[in-house]
Amino acid sequence: MTDDVLTHRADIAAALSPESLPVDQEPEMLSLRPEKLAEYVGQPEVVETLHIAIEAAQLRNDPLDHILFHGPPGLGKTTLAHIIANEMGGQLTVTSGPALDKRGDLLGILTHLQEGDILFVDEIHRIPKVVEEFLYPAMEDYAVDFVFDKGIHARSHRFRLKRFTLVGATTRVGLLSAPLRDRFGIFRNLDFYSEDDLVKIAGRSASLLDMPIDPDGAGELSKRSRGTPRIVNRLLKRVRDFSQVRADGQMNRQTVSAALDLEGVDEKGLTVLDRRYLETVIEFYKGGPVGIEAVAATLQEETDTLVDVVEPYLLKIGMIMRTSSGRKASQAAYRHLGFKVQDSLFSRD
Ligand code: ADP
Repeated sequence: MTDDVLTHRADIAAALSPESLPVDQEPEMLSLRPEKLAEYVGQPEVVETLHIAIEAAQLRNDPLDHILFHGPPGLGKTTLAHIIANEMGGQLTVTSGPALDKRGDLLGILTHLQEGDILFVDEIHRIPKVVEEFLYPAMEDYAVDFVFDKGIHARSHRFRLKRFTLVGATTRVGLLSAPLRDRFGIFRNLDFYSEDDLVKIAGRSASLLDMPIDPDGAGELSKRSRGTPRIVNRLLKRVRDFSQVRADGQMNRQTVSAALDLEGVDEKGLTVLDRRYLETVIEFYKGGPVGIEAVAATLQEETDTLVDVVEPYLLKIGMIMRTSSGRKASQAAYRHLGFKVQDSLFSRD
């Protein structure tokens, strides 16, 4: 093995060390992650599919099929990868598409996997094309072909890999190439959570944080969390801070409302960025239709942030519509922001 590959391994080890974990995966948040399928709230079809696949793989003593999860951020894709590794008794290795910018990076990770291990690749649609092609034989034949040197000195070597399971997550399944998508045996879409499910998640997280929240408070928090467990957990911590400092530790509807108003989260769960997006479409572009690039330029935000983070929920609750000629604000958006619907193009109440 070349020095090059060895250095990549050191890089990978550094990339996977706790210091570089994203905020929501830091140890404290990890403790809020359910560890077993039975503790995973909501998404019943996904849970049932996984129950069956895991039990069948265990019965046959086979590795689990490769699995692809699709859905907006914060809905539990990474959590499911942790759960799958726990249920299968394998080690989990976490990486992401953009982190795998060289084939050597992936080779280093793949050759370290043991039988039954799980490799989780977040944002798998952002894997560079050359690295992606390297994944095909790894997924299909548990082997990788690596070429050393260049030109007439080039030598190819086939590494045999242990039988592992790839769990991919993506917010944009449309950007995944067909050959990669087709190599996943299981493909599941995660949808936004119902308020009832979010209430359960809020209750569970609050008791893990040792800060019980009353049912009305949990209801209010869930209503304002954009159908997303990660947001429930994040806002719960802001409510906890607020209630400890301003309200003798009481977590009820009043303290939840006051804390979330302070955070700029309104009664429908829209954030400052959501509202700026809608105001831009309504005021600047007269309600649309307008292209996403134009909205992003006006807001000085990344297009990807708007498409991946802001728009899915606004579409879900009918605040915007996507048409062939661009985004349009709905009447609900006009009303929510206090614009008159009839002569809405011009005035706010
Ligand atoms: P994603 O990978 O889709 O961006 P994560 O798996 O990181 O989302 O989930 C974000 C947080 O939300 C996790 O820390 C976890 O605590 C919580 N969470 C997600 N899904 C669930 C669920 N179904 N039940 C309970 N908590 C959940």
